[in-house]
Amino acid sequence: MTASTTDTSHTTNQTKSGMQFCPKCASALEERILEGKVRQACTTCDFVFYRDPKPVAGVLAFKDEKLLLIQRGNEPKLGLWSFPTGYVDIGDTPAETAVREAKEEADVDVELDRLLGVYSNDSRTVVLIIYVGRIIAGTPAGRAEALDARLFALDALPELAFDHDYHILEDLVCSNADPHQTERPINKQI
Ligand SMILES: [Zn+2]
Repeated sequence: MTASTTDTSHTTNQTKSGMQFCPKCASALEERILEGKVRQACTTCDFVFYRDPKPVAGVLAFKDEKLLLIQRGNEPKLGLWSFPTGYVDIGDTPAETAVREAKEEADVDVELDRLLGVYSNDSRTVVLIIYVGRIIAGTPAGRAEALDARLFALDALPELAFDHDYHILEDLVCSNADPHQTERPINKQI
């Protein structure tokens, strides 16, 4: 995942814990327990700030049975490797986002074959939507925030940036062995 998917500074009027002022009436927000969770609610009007996880899409893109990885150019995990991923922007589908990020970060054209899975957990601020696909054109090269982009054999991978990268790869191996996915859990905690 690139820095763009972990950067929350693009959202104004928001701190790490949430918003400070009501977007409807500009009054201060306060923490309140609503529906069993701590939420920020307006002290004057009926506004409640519901924090939603952001959708992030990415692709495990292969060429000649080798996996495309990009080397991160930003913290966290600067210099480690991961899959091309990015936030799903309004007006784009997750599939379009996955294809776009492969182009933007690794300069390759990718065709998606299938959805691998949807990954999140209760402490994460993103929901990862991961596809499996093929590189149909281009030679991998680091672009945008990526220092480098290369193809790796699955048994000779570099150190990956995130624990969930390894979970996703395990899922890929399981799904390749069981393409009908009958034994695989649907709710994927990472
Ligand atoms: Zn208000």
